[in-house]
Amino acid sequence: MPPIKPRNGILNITPYKAGDAKIEGFDKVIKLASNESPMGPSPLAVKAVIKAANDGMQLYPDPSCGALRQAIGEVHDIDPEQIICSGGSEELLHLLAKGYASDGDEVIYCQYGFIAYPITIHAVGATPVMVQEDNYTASVDAVLAAVTDRTKIVNLANPNNPTGTYLVESEIKRLRDGLRDDILLVLDAAYAEYVDKQDYDAGFNLVNNGMENVIVTRTFSKIYGLAGVRVGWAYGPKSVLDILHRIRGTFNVTALAQVAATAAMRDQDHMLKAKAHNLKWVPKLSQALEELGLTVTPSQGNFILVHFPDGPEQSVAMDKFLRSKGIIVRPVGNYDLAGALRITIGTDSENEALLAAMSAFFA
Ligand SMILES: *Cc1c(COP(=O)(O)O)cnc(C)c1O
Repeated sequence: MPPIKPRNGILNITPYKAGDAKIEGFDKVIKLASNESPMGPSPLAVKAVIKAANDGMQLYPDPSCGALRQAIGEVHDIDPEQIICSGGSEELLHLLAKGYASDGDEVIYCQYGFIAYPITIHAVGATPVMVQEDNYTASVDAVLAAVTDRTKIVNLANPNNPTGTYLVESEIKRLRDGLRDDILLVLDAAYAEYVDKQDYDAGFNLVNNGMENVIVTRTFSKIYGLAGVRVGWAYGPKSVLDILHRIRGTFNVTALAQVAATAAMRDQDHMLKAKAHNLKWVPKLSQALEELGLTVTPSQGNFILVHFPDGPEQSVAMDKFLRSKGIIVRPVGNYDLAGALRITIGTDSENEALLAAMSAFFA
């Protein structure tokens, strides 16, 4: 029998490949491949999970994530009624595509935009429309030029992964102003907490101004160090949240994930420590690698995109060499960036080991 035919678009998906976590022959590796937090989660989150695991795993979780939304609302000074939680922010990207795009519709994303976007777009049978960037940075003009009658959604990661570049608030506003009102602008702000720029806004100001066609997605996977428990959230207009609530899994955030994220959100000291560590290391590592003759795209994330002057051959050789030392970084050939590697900021000792290994490669 021939296999049963899936819905339109699904066979166009190139499955997502996660960063490796193991190297054969090594008991322990230095993993700088998935933008995880070297600080780990807040100890208060760990404590909360242990307690919750001891009392009540037979019970379904709160389907509304009430305590978590309350905590997020207090910390960010936003209305909990305009917050939706999810099993990782990737789930939200899928829900947004499902809620607003279907066969024949177009969804725009940028050239080096997060690779999950085309997956979510194909999954609903819509057509991904990739627009060129300028110097590894999203171009508002190029996005606006790509809009057609069929455009339903624009996906933009700000700051973007894997480039680390960002658009200033005025550019995001210019983008929103230039899009038709019936196009949803999805601002993926997975790295917002790391940004240290006065001219940056994750998109909350647009939502606060009552825009009905902007939603901002956030995650506990990065600075909060909770990638393993899968919690994301979004801030947006109630009209959009209503659509997402209709189609999300009723219990899409587990009880343990909810208590972990709630405790993590309430421990802003821990978050700020992770931010300070990152702000120390991004420039330090970038400069040290430039001194080795590499080019580093200026990054606002917890990772850097490192370009090799001799191209793919050299980046592949470096990757191999680092693996021989027990260090895993991220090749980005799947982003059409085969001559570059993406390197996540690690702990002090991990970053020093990485630098020593990369220096040894060139020595
Ligand atoms: C890591 C990342 C996410 C977060 O994914 P989760 O599903 O929340 O773990 C979202 N967007 C971008 C651009 C990312 O790099």
